[in-house]
Amino acid sequence: MSRKGLIDDLVSANHILFKEGVVDGFGHVSVRDERDPERFLLSRSIAPATVSPRDVMEFGLDGEPLNPRGRRPYLERFIHSEIYRARPDVVAVVHSHSPALIPFGITGTSLRPVFHMSGFLGQATPIFEIREAGGPATDMLIRDRKLGTALARTLGKAPFALMRGHGSVAVGASLKQVVYRAIYAEVNARLQSEALRLGAITYLNDAEAANAARTNDGVIDRPWGLWKARLKRG
Ligand SMILES: [Zn+2]
Repeated sequence: MSRKGLIDDLVSANHILFKEGVVDGFGHVSVRDERDPERFLLSRSIAPATVSPRDVMEFGLDGEPLNPRGRRPYLERFIHSEIYRARPDVVAVVHSHSPALIPFGITGTSLRPVFHMSGFLGQATPIFEIREAGGPATDMLIRDRKLGTALARTLGKAPFALMRGHGSVAVGASLKQVVYRAIYAEVNARLQSEALRLGAITYLNDAEAANAARTNDGVIDRPWGLWKARLKRG
């Protein structure tokens, strides 16, 4: 993909995540630089819905901007830099505070796949406890490399992690995949909360979750096309 194509897709991902209710004034999405895996692209510190190509900045894996030109980076860019550093397989990262997921980070009720669209969640979604790395009096934000490293350690090899009292992080092998995961993790959380009110849940088992995830990854262009078309309609 051309440089312009990658930046255009990153801008679309920002807008899609807003349109689909994953991010609001806060939250961000990044993509690893195809030409240099030691770098990644992330907007300057503005609301995702307002991101345009000229807002996209380049960062090193220390989380510092390489071409700031007066633009202010997100405080929580270390979420992205430390995950890219720890996970060579990760090409894109979404961080959000999408609301339906919050209860699963604070109650001890595990987020688990309730339907085939969220099979990627697997069996046990990790939860990041910021007090373990940052003590009892942080502002809950991942504002330095130390906290980013601790978050990446909690994520481990998983595609998704909750952050207690804050939000979540999704990772993927492409922008399309990470946007899909961020959207359907939120949908799963909504459905799981609803189902818990009705009674005991039969979750997808390991095999069903893995197989459903593989099948959906094979048709990821379809929802991406729909999400982009919705942007055009305004
Ligand atoms: Zn945050």
